[in-house]
Amino acid sequence: IVDRIRDNTTGRVPFSVEFYPPRTEAEEDRLWRTAREFEQLHPAFVSITYGAGGSTRDRTVRVTGKIAEQTTLLPVAHLTAVSHSVDELRAMVGAYADRGISNVLVLRGDPPGDPLGEWTKHPDGVEYAEELVRLVRDLGDFHVGVASFPEGHHRSPDLDHDTEYLVAKLRAGAEYSITQMFFDIDDYLRLRDRVVALDPEQGAKPIIPEIMPITSLRSVRRMVELSGSKLPRTLEERLTAAAGDGPTEDRAAVREAGIEFATTMGERLIAEGAPSLHFITLNFARATCEVLENLGIAPARLAQ
Ligand code: FAD
Repeated sequence: IVDRIRDNTTGRVPFSVEFYPPRTEAEEDRLWRTAREFEQLHPAFVSITYGAGGSTRDRTVRVTGKIAEQTTLLPVAHLTAVSHSVDELRAMVGAYADRGISNVLVLRGDPPGDPLGEWTKHPDGVEYAEELVRLVRDLGDFHVGVASFPEGHHRSPDLDHDTEYLVAKLRAGAEYSITQMFFDIDDYLRLRDRVVALDPEQGAKPIIPEIMPITSLRSVRRMVELSGSKLPRTLEERLTAAAGDGPTEDRAAVREAGIEFATTMGERLIAEGAPSLHFITLNFARATCEVLENLGIAPARLAQ
């Protein structure tokens, strides 16, 4: 992953996308259509999420394996420690290896049911992602990424502790981090500065910013609430104005505002030297492609 995002022969800022494992046949069809669209744009990698509480375990393995076997995309499999013993975690890593997957995004995960509720470690599991980084690294030649939090993780007592824990994951062998979605670039820049100040060696590892092109006010509010992050007031006001005061939100207007905001974020991140851009797609191609076109990363579509 690091080699791919540092490859400067392409003349453009690298990007990557996040998919989730589909739940229905219709979603499955959509995912493969979306994957084929992105394939033409040569993302550095695609990451596949691991459902809350390990609920998508089998689907994550299957979808990640299929991407590895049947597309030219490079998959990164997410793995969380929730509800898993160390033996089960080892078996999961083995299942990824059997499918030729060597890139893993290692996460602790959130408690099942209420993501903001109390975390209880599996009696035979791990407490923090840092331990899972060591476990995966000990199992073979895996390339590991971890999560980072521009606003600080909601369970961290303060930003300094949050930075220490991120640096501990990097020292344990993670090669890069991908941030939680955020909407204030200064939060990202301050995170980068804190990591460099604490440990310049670890600070040299890429912190890949995650961008969510907003297409629905209702769904972004829900995502922000579940992740314990915040929607800045000015952005919320802009989206609320676009949504209008009708019985249902004006999706086209929200989408337009969301894509414009994501484009501005991308421009500023590129100007600030972000190593690459990672997009939450919700398995749809269009909104992310529009942002990529606006940024000159994807070729503009011919008029249809
Ligand atoms: P950790 O790094 O273990 O941190 C958890 C908490 O413990 C933090 O508050 C941290 O500050 C604290 N901490 C860490 N080490 C110590 C220590 N030594 N002593 C005291 N406190 C410590 N969730 C899913 O379920 N599936 C996914 O696919 C998924 N993908 C994600 C992708 C990205 C890019 C991101 C940013 C998050 C993703 N998540 C996913 C959410 C993630 O699982 C949660 O945010 C989770 O609450 C934290 O995971 P972590 O790996 O950062 O945990």
